[in-house]
Amino acid sequence: MPPAARRLITATPSLALLLALAALSGCDGAPAPGPTAPAAAAPRSADPAANRIEDDVRALAGDAMQGRATGTPGFDRAADHVAARFAEAGLQPAGADGSWFQPVPLLRATIDAEGALLRVTLGDDAVELAFPEQFLPLPDFNRPESAVDAPAVFVVQAVHAPGLGHDDFAGLDLRGKVAVILGGAPDHFDDDRRAFHGSLAEKLRAVAARGAVGAVLAGTADDEVRTPWARIAADRDRPSMRLRGEDGRGVDTWPGLQVVARVGAAAADTLFAGGDRSTARLAADARAGRGRGFDLPVRLSLAVWTRVDVLDSRNVVGLLPGSDPALAHEYVVHTAHLDHLGIGADVDGDRVYNGALDNALGVAIMTEAARTLASASGRPRRPQLFVAVTAEEQGLLGSQWFADRPPVDGALVANINIDMPVLTAPSRDVVAIGAGHSSLGPIVDEAARGLGVRVSPDPFPEEAAFVRSDQFSFVRRGIPAVYLDGGVEPADPERDPRVAATWFMRNCYHRPCDQADLPIHYDDAARLARLSARIARGIADADAPPTWNEGDFFGEWFSRPPSTGR
Ligand SMILES: [Zn+2]
Repeated sequence: MPPAARRLITATPSLALLLALAALSGCDGAPAPGPTAPAAAAPRSADPAANRIEDDVRALAGDAMQGRATGTPGFDRAADHVAARFAEAGLQPAGADGSWFQPVPLLRATIDAEGALLRVTLGDDAVELAFPEQFLPLPDFNRPESAVDAPAVFVVQAVHAPGLGHDDFAGLDLRGKVAVILGGAPDHFDDDRRAFHGSLAEKLRAVAARGAVGAVLAGTADDEVRTPWARIAADRDRPSMRLRGEDGRGVDTWPGLQVVARVGAAAADTLFAGGDRSTARLAADARAGRGRGFDLPVRLSLAVWTRVDVLDSRNVVGLLPGSDPALAHEYVVHTAHLDHLGIGADVDGDRVYNGALDNALGVAIMTEAARTLASASGRPRRPQLFVAVTAEEQGLLGSQWFADRPPVDGALVANINIDMPVLTAPSRDVVAIGAGHSSLGPIVDEAARGLGVRVSPDPFPEEAAFVRSDQFSFVRRGIPAVYLDGGVEPADPERDPRVAATWFMRNCYHRPCDQADLPIHYDDAARLARLSARIARGIADADAPPTWNEGDFFGEWFSRPPSTGR
């Protein structure tokens, strides 16, 4: 799961989540013994598939892999391990030049504190905000030094959702101005639309397309309940990454936006100086769908200095050819991200962010699904690609590169993604996020029935996980996808998987204690691998490739030609 995506979405935690958290008093901070805290490791399984998955998790999440950060030797060692396991599973190399690897070119950027400026001018008065206490510029992948001075326009949440009759840009001219934006999307949007339109990337795309020369994201106290400003500010030296296109420039970097900055809630009212409404009031109106944009009386001066360097990583790609020559150019794609966060800040004497659940486990499950399909007596009709992708934590970059530039000749017709299944309490079911958007839904249900496992609805729909992991790179290309996750129905009445997942998110998610000594239920992992293989077979053997449901938001949005109008 990428940390950035987690921050960019404004969602209210569900009641269920809050109740689960309330039941876990005193768990914030270091892991504390709770009902689902790491206990003695489960005994070795009687199922060889479970043991293979465990061996892979222990290898990929071992300290020798150094946390598998994109662009590091530890990641490359992990990629070599996966390639060897793909070969053992019976796959063929399907990367560049007959290798297992698809090169993924990247840019890496960090801001230089010295160049950071945000000045608000109202008439003869000018106020400079304090860096990083009050504002943080985002890195500029296009220029080492960038500055802009322009009038400001408030564009509410920068949401244009024609299907819902909502347009924050109505009557506004953004050309040559700095757009001042609130996070999130209106409360009455459904979870998927709220998450999609609430993402910072979509907001920046929308204001850049309308001619803005800069953008400022105004924080609110509500935003900072979820992610405190201090944590955002503390992350300012962590590099950002973008794909590096054939022209050497960053992909999705909107060069027309000279500077983009965030302003913390404590200083956001400065942006609205000279008016009669506070940021909190404007944000409340925006959430209620009553927001109206307007020209602000202030001018904004923004500057940022950025250090950009070139970086190369790779996806690991294995192929299982299909059995039907007529369908040889229609690929089913399996993905799981291999990267994690590498070496970071010391927590309780540990600096290696091993990423056992996130996502050594997903890669191991995908590898086992490959082995299941490759060793079956009859091959699926359509070919299958298995891809351990890089740079997911940096914004789904490896999967985006793969979906945009597949190293095979043909069409990608479906994606099955596995990311961070929290299998630390045994369950009776699985969760198939996003299956309900397409004809993959009935295929998943059929596959689950065949295994005697139930399919539960997404327990945290407001988290909108469907737009937040690698499957979304395929969805953006119009390709139906499903994100398989662990279940929520307890198989052991003493241990609730939802509580276990909440405990993990609070204590070990993106921390050094996401490591192989967690009590991972490898039998459930093996079941997920079998389910994934059955779903893949269901897709591969059908006469027609999967389709989006009639009127589905994602199906419709991403089948339109991109234009400034959407
Ligand atoms: Zn993650």
